[in-house]
Amino acid sequence: MEPNGYDIKRGGQHFLLSAKARTISLKTVFSMGDEAAYNLFCQLRWPETDGEAYCPRCGCTDSYKIRTRRQFECKACKHHFSVTSGTIFANRKMSFTDLLAAIVIFVNGAKGIAALQLSRDLDCQYKTAFVLTHKLREAMAQEQKGRTLGGIVEIDGGYFGGYIKPENRKADRIDRRLKVNQNGKRQCVVIMRERGGKSLPFIVREEADSVPLVRRHVVHGATIYADEGHGWDDLHAGWETKRVSHAANFMDDGVCTNQAESYFSRLRRMEVGTHHHIAGKYLNAYAGEAAWREDYRRLDNGNQSAKVGFAAMASGISRQWSGYWQRAA
Ligand SMILES: [Zn+2]
Repeated sequence: MEPNGYDIKRGGQHFLLSAKARTISLKTVFSMGDEAAYNLFCQLRWPETDGEAYCPRCGCTDSYKIRTRRQFECKACKHHFSVTSGTIFANRKMSFTDLLAAIVIFVNGAKGIAALQLSRDLDCQYKTAFVLTHKLREAMAQEQKGRTLGGIVEIDGGYFGGYIKPENRKADRIDRRLKVNQNGKRQCVVIMRERGGKSLPFIVREEADSVPLVRRHVVHGATIYADEGHGWDDLHAGWETKRVSHAANFMDDGVCTNQAESYFSRLRRMEVGTHHHIAGKYLNAYAGEAAWREDYRRLDNGNQSAKVGFAAMASGISRQWSGYWQRAA
């Protein structure tokens, strides 16, 4: 069972989980047709009933099918609903085939997917792709909410944003390391990674600001591995904390933060290689996406797609992204 309450094996075998779909290609998606894609979304939405609709308002399992519009009318309370009602895909404009293809393209991007690339691949507007990828990130992050970590937990921080371009002439250049010369846009991503388990990222201003968050999410009795940064000194008071001095070595008597480093390596590659720039207010979303990709990196892309699909159908309407069109128009 996953932390957010769903079990991907529940409700028998889903197409995306069958041997045939362990790996899923765009060729498969586009050859299955929109009806099969629609049925798949029904299975992702209603795994308990193997894809049979039930009313999101009263829970009644009896409904009339309005086939032409792919809608349902609840026999008990007369509520009209569709497979995407009340989910992150509510009011979708895309076909189910395109939606499924978007998920597959998205999970296939080890360094993330740029909205511009997705808009070209799916022949849709840039803004559609932009909102859709952010909705997928939001669904991925649901799983990480309220997560607690135990055992051996690696903790590290990395700074993102706030880049200041050096002046052309050497004489005009300033010392960009000094606080007075920074632009205040720099943020710190702190990652906590359980050995053999899951990850949890947070955004703070400075590394040391994350100690209260560590207190909330790392269980008592856990062992923390961190580097020599002074921000982590306070951790010794709450947990057995072992430090590795990167100036001397990367692993000291088995103590290392290599899992945390590989997380930052992926997030940096996403920033530099795919998105080129990450706006400060979205850093949280990309940090969560990188954690999801690290945690499921060994899963084949069929199962990754299924996980994202389940998460999207289990997430409520997006607070941040629903109605984006109306607001931005
Ligand atoms: Zn009802």
